[in-house]
Amino acid sequence: MENKKELRNWLDAFNLDHPLVIAGPCSAETEEQVLKIAHELKDTDATVFRAGIWKPRTRPGMFEGVGALGLKWLQKAKEETGMLTTTEVANPNHVELALKHDVDILWIGARTTVSPFNIQEIAEALKGTDKTVLIKNPVNPDLALWLGAVERFYTQDVKNLGVIHRGFSTYEKTRYRNNPEWQVAVDLQNEFPDLPLILDPSHIAGRRDIIFDLCQTGLDLNYDGIMVETHYDPDNAWSDAKQQITPSQLVQIMKDLKIRKEEG
Ligand code: PEP
Ligand code: MN
Repeated sequence: MENKKELRNWLDAFNLDHPLVIAGPCSAETEEQVLKIAHELKDTDATVFRAGIWKPRTRPGMFEGVGALGLKWLQKAKEETGMLTTTEVANPNHVELALKHDVDILWIGARTTVSPFNIQEIAEALKGTDKTVLIKNPVNPDLALWLGAVERFYTQDVKNLGVIHRGFSTYEKTRYRNNPEWQVAVDLQNEFPDLPLILDPSHIAGRRDIIFDLCQTGLDLNYDGIMVETHYDPDNAWSDAKQQITPSQLVQIMKDLKIRKEEG
């Protein structure tokens, strides 16, 4: 990635006067759930609707996502609300299906970013497309591994790229589900200032009550956007119930955040 200027500026094209907001449930559960949440987000600052359909659960036996069926629900959410859509892809088959169903933005999960083989085949499956790909940090705080994933996409000519900071695993008991280790993301930002950097406070926190504070810290550090898990009934969500917030709580957070304007 010698010429960082060649990264395409997909985010500027959105022409937003606030940080990019990606919102929606951890998992697509039913068609009704997807559409209800998308409609509740429609007139908020959220530009992109997220919902995971293939869920990389740490241990088996939990809800592992609705699979390809959910792609139709995402398509419907887009048609009905005009929001862009994003979902996680973890292999070339997911990529093929997501492209076929017009998912606007693909994200790479933390458990996928750790695997260069996996990343390489996903990047090759996207070669020559102009899809935007957002790459979550690997589960371990390894900046080189994170950058390596970005570079693997870049060298396949996938140049609409961004990164998502979702925190890092630790065996210690802390207030976070995944330690933010802000310095790792700041180092990445220093190395690639043109790469949009998005905060995922939901997976860092693992709980609702510190989502606002994390968002504020991210914006103070000049992050370009946030991705917040949002559900109309968070307590009964099929995955990540403790960390999801309602669309109206997200609206309140956006009102309360001090958003730093670009200098100069
Ligand atoms: C998610 O965004 O729901 C998810 C599974 O994320 P991560 O890869 O950060 O765990
Ligand atoms: Mn989740």
